[in-house]
Amino acid sequence: MTGAGGRPGPRGPAHEIAAAVRRGERTAALVVDEYLEAIAAREEELHAFNVITAERAREAAALLDRRVAAGDDPGPLAGVPVALKDNLCTRGVPTTCSSRILAGWKPPYDATVVERLAAAGAVVVGKTNLDEFAMGSSTEHSATGPTRNPVDTERVPGGSSGGSAAAVAAGFAPIALGSDTGGSIRQPAAFCGVVGVKPTYGRVSRYGLVAFASSLDQIGPFATTVADAALVLEVIAGHDPLDSTSVAEPAPDLLRVLDDGVAGLRVGVVRELLGEGVDAEVVERTRAAAEALDAAGAVVDEVSVPAAAYGLSAYYLIAPAEASSNLARYDGVRYGLRVDAASTAEMNVATRTEGFGDEVKRRIMLGTYALSAGYYDAYYGKAQRVRTLIIRDFDAAYERVDLLLAPTTPTTAFRFGDKTGDPLSMYLSDVCTIPSNLSGHPAMSVPFGFGAGGLPIGVQVLAPALGEAAMFRAAAVLEEAIK
Ligand code: GLN
Repeated sequence: MTGAGGRPGPRGPAHEIAAAVRRGERTAALVVDEYLEAIAAREEELHAFNVITAERAREAAALLDRRVAAGDDPGPLAGVPVALKDNLCTRGVPTTCSSRILAGWKPPYDATVVERLAAAGAVVVGKTNLDEFAMGSSTEHSATGPTRNPVDTERVPGGSSGGSAAAVAAGFAPIALGSDTGGSIRQPAAFCGVVGVKPTYGRVSRYGLVAFASSLDQIGPFATTVADAALVLEVIAGHDPLDSTSVAEPAPDLLRVLDDGVAGLRVGVVRELLGEGVDAEVVERTRAAAEALDAAGAVVDEVSVPAAAYGLSAYYLIAPAEASSNLARYDGVRYGLRVDAASTAEMNVATRTEGFGDEVKRRIMLGTYALSAGYYDAYYGKAQRVRTLIIRDFDAAYERVDLLLAPTTPTTAFRFGDKTGDPLSMYLSDVCTIPSNLSGHPAMSVPFGFGAGGLPIGVQVLAPALGEAAMFRAAAVLEEAIK
């Protein structure tokens, strides 16, 4: 792996770091220092982080080293630096969602995923930048300013988990967590050339994830390799009584099946997601991925998921509707910012006017409208019916095939300012990722080559609910094929 500024660094895949730390061959302290150095060298240019928790990270590393010296095994992520999207609650560490309205708020508890990472020996190095409240596709809607794509700093890293994707791509941390409501892990992973996974809805506890659209939100990993993504998912997945939508299933066994290959698996290329609006170079890479799976023994065919074409429209009613309700809690009383005014009602208005950015306000208004009496059936109700159709179309497709293949994004990373003037064109970035959020199915993006200008292109592997194991097998085959 290459370090900051082309300097070769000793930083490597998470599983290698953990193995060395567990055996006492490398200290967690040294590992953390190496990554903090890499961050110091390039963070000013990229702005991947809202906060860097250097001191805490060094303390945690020292503690891990003492445990190893005492004969303890800190776990499968021993000493591995991790970057957390800044909408995951961290006890005593600011959690802002890149919004002014949460300025100064320090959660009194850790998200379940944060607890599980720590219990596995991982070390948090910082909280990463995002589009405010995870609403966006470029990190340009962040109150702390945009993150730059490490591959080409004139371009966006994608969003909303752009800071996490950039942090992994820049070698600031070998792994990171993001959240994916409509594509916010997979799209930035594709733009930055890293692996990004949205697990099955309910696979990973959402306890401590600041809610955007609760029926769609799901936490997942970023990593430089498929194996590292599998390792992180094994650590964070599994039932959690603190999240009522968490599935009562143990974490999936992924590392064990990673080398099983795809011989005999049936894979369908989604016809609707290769059409109009998807760049030729992205279509070419997706077809190349289909050929790679075919060459590895999969039975590849084209399949139709007709309702997928309506995913975007349904999503932009359902997600804002849920957001308008979830974001009602930011009233200037309980969290962060308060702008004082003569009465409570005026204080609420002044705080929300000052605290929320334009995109968040747009979503709240769209959602409130979609839910309002007289329009509810026409908008929200209809969107829910489309959601059901999408689920049925996926179910029909999965009677014929085991996995689906599609582009992750219609284009490669775009330039700053290209889409900020036209919200609809920004929303279109998620046309290929949104259907899996609506169905609740798992999907992941795997880097599969480059387009014009050396910009990374990701292909998306989709699976039926709880089908992560087969999904990861296909991802591993693609990763091997592109080496
Ligand atoms: N870009 C999409 C949106 O703006 C998805 C966001 C997400 O997945 N958090 O809503």
